[in-house]
Amino acid sequence: MKPSYNTLLDNNKKWAIDQLKTNPDYFKLLSRQQTPEYLWIGCSDSRVPADQITGTKPGEMFVHRNIANMVVHSDMNLLSVLSYAVEVLKVKHVIVCGHYECGGVLAAMGNKQYGLIDNWLRHIKDVYKAHHKELNAIEDQKLRFRRMVELNVMEQVQDLCKTTIVQNAWRDGQELHVHGWVYSLDDGVIKDLEVSFNNNTELATVYQFD
Ligand code: ZN
Repeated sequence: MKPSYNTLLDNNKKWAIDQLKTNPDYFKLLSRQQTPEYLWIGCSDSRVPADQITGTKPGEMFVHRNIANMVVHSDMNLLSVLSYAVEVLKVKHVIVCGHYECGGVLAAMGNKQYGLIDNWLRHIKDVYKAHHKELNAIEDQKLRFRRMVELNVMEQVQDLCKTTIVQNAWRDGQELHVHGWVYSLDDGVIKDLEVSFNNNTELATVYQFD
């Protein structure tokens, strides 16, 4: 049965008590500061809880989620999170994690109108267009969908590397790795797409900042 909103508050009280049972100083320690090593950029999908699937605890991962884990370079929300994570928290890893069966990606691959969200999905359609030869050559629709999820993550990794925020950190010698992962709802396992970057040398010249 799905919890009503009151159940959420009851669960929270129980959780807070449980934490104190394990460590009486739990909240005292946690409230002092956060020093996360990771920034997670994931999908809003309720089936992909960043901390649970990575075994990270409160304080260990800074999280940004939106539909289809997009890195849109004019999105002030994403840019603010990225800037704070890299420049202030000095995270060492930025992870874009997509997931197979992503409703946002599927919607973007079709022709149906969904309303305002179509403007957001446009960014995903642009990824499809960039890779349409490879994608259209995949006859099996499920496999094509899976590949599109992977290509979308790879594209978002590239888009992170194109930002001045990430490139300035690299220029200043800050340790910063950008990664692309895909989570499988079928078995709960994350696949590393092995598209990690820690410098801008592989970007097309036009995107490289001095
Ligand atoms: Zn999704």
